[in-house]
Amino acid sequence: MDQHPHQPTEQKTDDCRDRLGFLQGLIDAIPNPIFYKDRDGRYLGCNKAFEAYLGTTRTEIVGKTVFDLSPPDLAARYHEMDERLFRDGGVQEYEASVLHDDGNRHEVEFHKAVFLAPDGRPQGLVGVILDITERKRAEEALRVSEERFRIIYEQSPIGIELYDERGELLEINAACLEIFGVADPDAVRGFRLFEDPNVSASAKLRLQGGEEVRYRTPFSFDLVREHGLYKTSMSGIIHIDVIITPISAADGAPPARYLVQVQDVTEAVLREENLNYLSMHDQLTGLYNRAYFEMEMERVQKSRMDTAGVIVCDIDGLKAINDTRGHQAGDELIRAAAGIIRKSFRDSDVVARIGGDEFVAIVPNCTPEILVTASLRIDRNIAAHNLAGSGPAVAVSIGAACGRLADRRVIDIFNDADANMYADKAKRRSGRGAS
Ligand code: GH3
Ligand code: MG
Repeated sequence: MDQHPHQPTEQKTDDCRDRLGFLQGLIDAIPNPIFYKDRDGRYLGCNKAFEAYLGTTRTEIVGKTVFDLSPPDLAARYHEMDERLFRDGGVQEYEASVLHDDGNRHEVEFHKAVFLAPDGRPQGLVGVILDITERKRAEEALRVSEERFRIIYEQSPIGIELYDERGELLEINAACLEIFGVADPDAVRGFRLFEDPNVSASAKLRLQGGEEVRYRTPFSFDLVREHGLYKTSMSGIIHIDVIITPISAADGAPPARYLVQVQDVTEAVLREENLNYLSMHDQLTGLYNRAYFEMEMERVQKSRMDTAGVIVCDIDGLKAINDTRGHQAGDELIRAAAGIIRKSFRDSDVVARIGGDEFVAIVPNCTPEILVTASLRIDRNIAAHNLAGSGPAVAVSIGAACGRLADRRVIDIFNDADANMYADKAKRRSGRGAS
């Protein structure tokens, strides 16, 4: 101590009082509860925060022990820790509960230290209380929230990947490994998002600009192999629906993470494509159906084409085949006729089955000569088929018509072709009748 040897006793007492007043003021200004006790565990003093914490006054506290002020279970723990501190010396930190004036037990951290008598023996201890109830609550809330997200991440049927700011893979969940046919997560460790040839250049640019990207795309495992990206049990092409979200630490900051969510939508895409195909095609022959033919007539009508031609064919005597050789033989005849008519036109021409045994072809930018040539080609192909004898003998009546779209509707051209087909059928019937 810095006591002056010549100071009178009175002066010393005043100084001492001043200093104690100063120290009390100092600890009262500290917002954490502070207390000090003697070697027997009796409180010697405390600050205002401690009074408020326990909801009592310093006068009520001084001279008491923990057993007078706290519930027995808590007091026993404080006492035990105090004794351990006196035994071990130094400082001590531990977590415990304190009954707060609000009636609840608060989670606290005790920081205690021994103070020594001039002879070096422990004279008492000072303690500071740090209320960690809020911190514990926040930690618990965070733990519960993390647990919830971990379960979502692990159990989700959606593939989830997390990339770092440079686009290097940090984490991948089980669903994602399954989608990409990866058995060992080590096989994709360090995989780079921005070097993935399955992600378009424009998507990469938008992502680096902090924009979320969503797309549906065919995904090629041949590309994965070609670029030696990772070992996969998959092959061919799947269809995936992808959302990539850049995550920034602050608004406007560059992305710190990229969250990728992937769904395998191959089945849905194929089903859709199949439904689309079915909605436009005839199942028996594979040709376009009547609905598609009607759409095509409208499309041609609205196009800038000058002329359009229509050729209508109807099988001769299908009913008789059905009646004498059965419905399946009739189906076979329909398929044979369809094949012959289809191959009599260019691939780009629309050929449709619009009725039981009625077929139609639309020939864009047509002239009467082209129609005659096409009709002759059908006749020739039928003759070749019948000569080969590899299928049922086919006979069709053919009618054709063409017109300028400026003054005729496609449907009228079709009606003319249909009428011409019936005229041809009548002629062939009378020809057969005459023979
Ligand atoms: P025509 O020579 O005058 O053309 O007479 P047709 O016997 O070919 O009979 P028509 O063209 O008047 O009618 C077509 C027949 O084709 C009616 C129906 O019994 C039969 N038909 C329609 N759709 C199918 C089918 O999908 N399969 C089979 N096997 N027959 C069909
Ligand atoms: Mg017929």
